Amino acid sequence: MNFALRGTSVSAGITIGRAHLVSSARLEVAHYEIAPAAVTAEIFRFDAAISRAKQDLVALEAHIPADAPTEFGAFIELHRMILEDSSLSHVPRELIRERRCNAEWALVQQMETLLEQFEEAEDAYLRERGQDIQQVVERVLKALMGGKTLAAPRLPDEARLIVVAHDLSPADMLLFKGHQFGGFVTDAGGVTSHTAILARSLNIPALVGLHFARHMIRENDLLIVDGIQGVLVVDPDPLILAEYETRQSQHALERKKLRRLRHTPAATLEGTPIELFANIELPQDVKAAHEAGAQGIGLFRSEFLFLNRHELPSEDEQFEAYRNVARAMEGRPVVIRTLDVGADKALALDAPIAPNPALGLRAIRYCLAEPQLFLAQLRAILRASHYGSVRILLPMLAHAHEIEQALALLKLAKEQLEAAGVRYDGEILVGGMIEIPAAALALPLFMRRLDFLSIGTNDLIQYTLAIDRTDDAVAHLYDPMHPAVLHLIAHTIQTASRGGTPVGVCGEMAGDVLLTRLLLGMGLRNFSMHPAQLPAIKERVLRTSLEQAQPLAQRLLRTAEPARIRELIASLNA
Ligand code: PEP
Ligand code: MG
Repeated sequence: MNFALRGTSVSAGITIGRAHLVSSARLEVAHYEIAPAAVTAEIFRFDAAISRAKQDLVALEAHIPADAPTEFGAFIELHRMILEDSSLSHVPRELIRERRCNAEWALVQQMETLLEQFEEAEDAYLRERGQDIQQVVERVLKALMGGKTLAAPRLPDEARLIVVAHDLSPADMLLFKGHQFGGFVTDAGGVTSHTAILARSLNIPALVGLHFARHMIRENDLLIVDGIQGVLVVDPDPLILAEYETRQSQHALERKKLRRLRHTPAATLEGTPIELFANIELPQDVKAAHEAGAQGIGLFRSEFLFLNRHELPSEDEQFEAYRNVARAMEGRPVVIRTLDVGADKALALDAPIAPNPALGLRAIRYCLAEPQLFLAQLRAILRASHYGSVRILLPMLAHAHEIEQALALLKLAKEQLEAAGVRYDGEILVGGMIEIPAAALALPLFMRRLDFLSIGTNDLIQYTLAIDRTDDAVAHLYDPMHPAVLHLIAHTIQTASRGGTPVGVCGEMAGDVLLTRLLLGMGLRNFSMHPAQLPAIKERVLRTSLEQAQPLAQRLLRTAEPARIRELIASLNA
């Protein structure tokens, strides 16, 4: 059947390939044999995970808001009953004992048996309960996998394979990083969720928010992912296929042309130099940053070193990762952001589920609550600073006392290294992210205490417009061109520049070619983005006249009307 689905593009380009359905990387568990002497311990591990999943449900139940629909409580109750049923809590124990297999595999085997039985049920209500079983199993698996590194998904390495999933977490995406595939599409997800950001870093066409893809697509269906128009075509007829093949080669040709700009310095038509930096998630991403001609790393999201594992990376392991990046950049700036966990980047060992994770103990708040963990990271960054031009960036700041506490811990980390005779850059610069509206409106607090600022537009938009960036139900309200957002950004750039504090943008807006001239017109001179976006941004910078962009940007800031804002953006890009 030939049909098309509309979604939101998170990574441009066109790919044509075969569908590979994944339920979730978490459900694609590894299978291994357990030594006879380890069977009891494996059963104990399974029991512990069941108890942990129960505790999670109890915690969830305790946080049901008074005005929540009654179904919500009933749903948790149902999950508790499923979890307590012997078919799920006892049968896998027998499988572990009889087949000497790992707990994850035993659990998924039993889940599949149960799902088959449910699918055959006459009663529609019962058939639908299969989904609940899957969700409960995922919860137990999460608890089980908290104990060790997750298994990589069993994905055949094939460039033209397109992953189709209901949803993928940032941790899932990280596992996909090791595989080659042609594109991915999900039913859920917002355009600046960390899953989407990672997809962008893979530089393959990707769509989110398709709603029905996982249900309507079958394994091996021929798919066209059009990341330019935000369309997924399933089983295209020959004419459409031929048209897309032509567009695909044109797009590849354009990218190739852009890559020729790699060594051209970024400057406007007037010759004003513009810094174009790269965002990376893992040390190996430095290669892509180099290939794109990045002048520095503007954002190293260090938390990705902490995902998909139970134990924290040691100070030495972190030091090596940071030093590798510092060395590879050969003296060019490397901005390492301190651990920004929480919200959609939960640590596997994070026990309680916060009632509202995006507003909870995230980023700097988490680090200040865990000073030993933070100190270890600060020491690791300081040690790496001896090998390049390393800078520290503190995420999600809102209060002066948060900066002061972080700086006090940094001082302590320096003293500890000095006492141990370890070298580090005594002049290391410390910056703060402006990603909470309160920070953008109280800039002097930040400028007085910090060496530079970096605007995190992804969170700034999330918190200004009260839109969960991971929730596709509100994705249409996530608007970088909202006048409130634009004012906060322009105010931050102008206030920091006037006060002599270097300022950059490292959120996704920096990599959006439609907004380059607007940001330049507002006075931005430092952009940090995914390496894949850098060549197109450079090309736009090279064709921009600040003399023309500045007055248009100022005019745009004087209006609040969405239609007028869009008109002026169009004039800027004409
Ligand atoms: C941001 O919020 O804009 C940002 C760069 O940080 P992250 O996307 O990792 O939250
Ligand atoms: Mg952020």
